[in-house]
Amino acid sequence: MPDTLTHTQAMRYNRHIVLPQFDLEGQEKLLNSKVLILGAGGLGNTVAQLMCTGGAGTITLADDDRVEAHNLPRQILFTPEDCGKLKTEAARQRLLALVPECAIHCVSERPDDNLLSRLVESHDIVIDCTDNLASRKQINAISYRLGKPLVSGAAIRFEGQLFISMPGSNKACYQCVEKRFSMTELSCNEAGILSPVVSITGACQAQLAMQVLTGFGTLPAGELHLFDGLTFQWQKFTVPPLPDCDICQPK
Ligand SMILES: [Zn+2]
Repeated sequence: MPDTLTHTQAMRYNRHIVLPQFDLEGQEKLLNSKVLILGAGGLGNTVAQLMCTGGAGTITLADDDRVEAHNLPRQILFTPEDCGKLKTEAARQRLLALVPECAIHCVSERPDDNLLSRLVESHDIVIDCTDNLASRKQINAISYRLGKPLVSGAAIRFEGQLFISMPGSNKACYQCVEKRFSMTELSCNEAGILSPVVSITGACQAQLAMQVLTGFGTLPAGELHLFDGLTFQWQKFTVPPLPDCDICQPK
């Protein structure tokens, strides 16, 4: 039996509920949704905050990293006192202060294929907030195999990148994008990152996740969206599936 909103929740989410495309039904879908957020860095902080305060009922955060002082400008859930703590645990404390009834689970390790498969299986949507190509490929392969929607985000320097993969839609998966655009592996440690670019990208991931979970509007599946913070321009590429992709094409 799905949960229904309490009176207090209906008051809190009133500005969502008055949107005819969202409505009470959308808010209750969010309340009953299970959201898997992989990576609790800058993207994961913004996504987790917006999904939690926006009304998602269950959130799982996975990350094996600890908070460091140079994270604080863009990892907006953390305070200087959190330095040295596990990012998952520090984020959970802050999120529970924001929305005490949200069920927040922590996975404080980098999931291997088995653990990741179990996590993906038991959630409704996967949000990739990791910072390396190997994790992105692993997450794409497992999400696609298990038929779960995947919202990928990345941010580096002044650039944000967004892609949504919907298994079964005949649209490209993340591997198709990665091969066509030959994504380079750069870390923010070496290349740098402007903090608002992370929040812009993470906020877009949260918006797309809400769209998948509640069904409003037109979902930009199979499109690569790039934000350039130097010119303040967005670019959109419709990415056809690669005929030989071993993830999304029939063998
Ligand atoms: Zn593919």
